[in-house]
Amino acid sequence: MSAPPKNDTAPKPANFLRTLIEREVQDGVYAQRHWGGTPGDGAHHAAGPADPAQVRLRFPPEPNGYLHIGHAKSICLNFGLARDFGGVCHLRFDDTNPEAEEQEYVDAIVEMVQWLGWSWDVGGTSHLYYASNYFDFMYRAAEHLIEAGLAYVDEQSADQMRANRGDFITPGTNSPWRERSVADNLARFREMRDGQHADGSMVLRAKIDMASPNINLRDPALYRIKRAHHHNTGDKWCIYPMYAYAHPIEDALENITHSICTLEFEDQRPWYDWLLNKLADGGLLNRPLPKQHEFGRLNLSYVVTSKRKLRALVDEHIVEGWDDPRMPTLAGLRRRGYTPAAVRKMAEDTGASKTNAWIDYGVLEGAVRGDLEAQAPRAMAVIDPVPLKLGNWAELFGAAHREPCSAPAHPQHPELGQRQFSLGPEVWIERDDFAETPPKGFFRLFPGNKVRLKYGMVVECTGCEKDADGRVVAVLANVVPDTKSGTPGADAVKVKGTITWVGVHDGVAATINLYDRLFTEAQPDAGGRDFREVLNPSSKRVVQGYVEPALAALPADVRFQFERHGYFVTDRIDHRAEAPVFNRITGLRDSWAK
Ligand code: ATP
Ligand code: MG
Repeated sequence: MSAPPKNDTAPKPANFLRTLIEREVQDGVYAQRHWGGTPGDGAHHAAGPADPAQVRLRFPPEPNGYLHIGHAKSICLNFGLARDFGGVCHLRFDDTNPEAEEQEYVDAIVEMVQWLGWSWDVGGTSHLYYASNYFDFMYRAAEHLIEAGLAYVDEQSADQMRANRGDFITPGTNSPWRERSVADNLARFREMRDGQHADGSMVLRAKIDMASPNINLRDPALYRIKRAHHHNTGDKWCIYPMYAYAHPIEDALENITHSICTLEFEDQRPWYDWLLNKLADGGLLNRPLPKQHEFGRLNLSYVVTSKRKLRALVDEHIVEGWDDPRMPTLAGLRRRGYTPAAVRKMAEDTGASKTNAWIDYGVLEGAVRGDLEAQAPRAMAVIDPVPLKLGNWAELFGAAHREPCSAPAHPQHPELGQRQFSLGPEVWIERDDFAETPPKGFFRLFPGNKVRLKYGMVVECTGCEKDADGRVVAVLANVVPDTKSGTPGADAVKVKGTITWVGVHDGVAATINLYDRLFTEAQPDAGGRDFREVLNPSSKRVVQGYVEPALAALPADVRFQFERHGYFVTDRIDHRAEAPVFNRITGLRDSWAK
């Protein structure tokens, strides 16, 4: 596993969580905690040494789908804060719901958190945990709440319970089962556990306040009966904890200090504190208890991040799979060619705030351009090829002559050396680098004009060849003698245009996937709109182009800047050394900016 990304020293954008943790660490708020070496109850931790981690955070995905760019924000926030404050970040699978959770997703999540560069291995200890391993404690904690008079078994139907919950203006109504005895509650709860009652026939609820202005405190459900096979615990349980009950306990057992979640959980915070304090009062947990902090979720323009909508894109074959390079899943971004560093930078640059902000997609593109500009080797590629025939080549040099040319692999990295290719009597150029009748300000090929073939020679356009439909099938030009780049005569002829090209004799044919945004609207699902109505019809175009000979026999997953075109990567899945496939990561500049 790779080392966690280094914390650079550049000033960090506004992030209230960073400020808060900094102050708490200074004040020693969490300094007295002990750590039992593994997750466990209060006694387990008390028996261990002082917690070597200053703070503990966690990324707690439910393994019911693929990670997307919003999750990356949360991953980088939690792992980044742990790194910066001498802490540890746990990867915890929140797998308390027996349905919908699958090993396939567990594996994919592990792979993508590692891809982003983060590690949960600290000093030889793996902090990868499964919430389902805490079912025994959760059960014990529930019995404790019953014994303390803080929970009861409710036999109302789901409809009755809903009707009696009240709403924002109406207080709730107490359940007729609310005042049954501790002994009765304990007996019923054990019967629930032992499979003596039907699914959905009763639930365990906390006993707090049915008139609370916070609906989450109106006797929330803790356990339900559900005969379902669990991927980790098998058929051991037929009762499962509710998410709201399980999550605070998971945090406490793992000695988490800062439980960071998105804003929609703000109203759950009083419940989170209520539950953990009751369990600490009962001696099951130690103080200081974890605290929940909410931040605004990441919304990226031109992207949908709801798992349900992403699933629809896959199931309806609007895209070609979870890792389709147009998908905002991390698997999709990786295949598209985004670098982990770019995703981390986007997460860092967008800080953390108390509002759900929309971030422009250009921020992510800018991050990948910034990363690749500095490191991606350069190459020439022709994406919409038309041949350029050099009429006087044979006369000047002999038909078989090939003029060797070279260019730096990267203009700022001379140590990367030169790439070699050659000029011959026929080269591929971009179709739109020729105009029979040039529009105003057009400096490239048109009859009578001179341009430089980059790193090669100056040519003068003489016309073109067309097919019966009037479509240009070849552009014609003559070489201007003694104008080779890097020779004394190179500057003797002044030209206004320079074009990129690839030799017909040595160019490598390649499939090039030109990806663009999946949606034409910045907020595809705004105002309840069906995102299917605003699909970008040209989000994927596949073309046959040519690349420099140096790009023959490449491995998968290598990135280049194709001069004038943007950044490209060899596809992780479809690329073959003998049949290259490139994906466009992004253009050289933001073509969507207004
Ligand atoms: P979705 O809404 O896409 O189904 P989720 O929140 O249900 O996502 P989880 O697996 O529960 O998916 O999420 C794991 C963590 O990722 C949670 O802590 C959640 O707050 C965080 N997270 C999910 N989406 C975003 C987002 N857009 N911005 C920031 N954090 C997010
Ligand atoms: Mg969720």
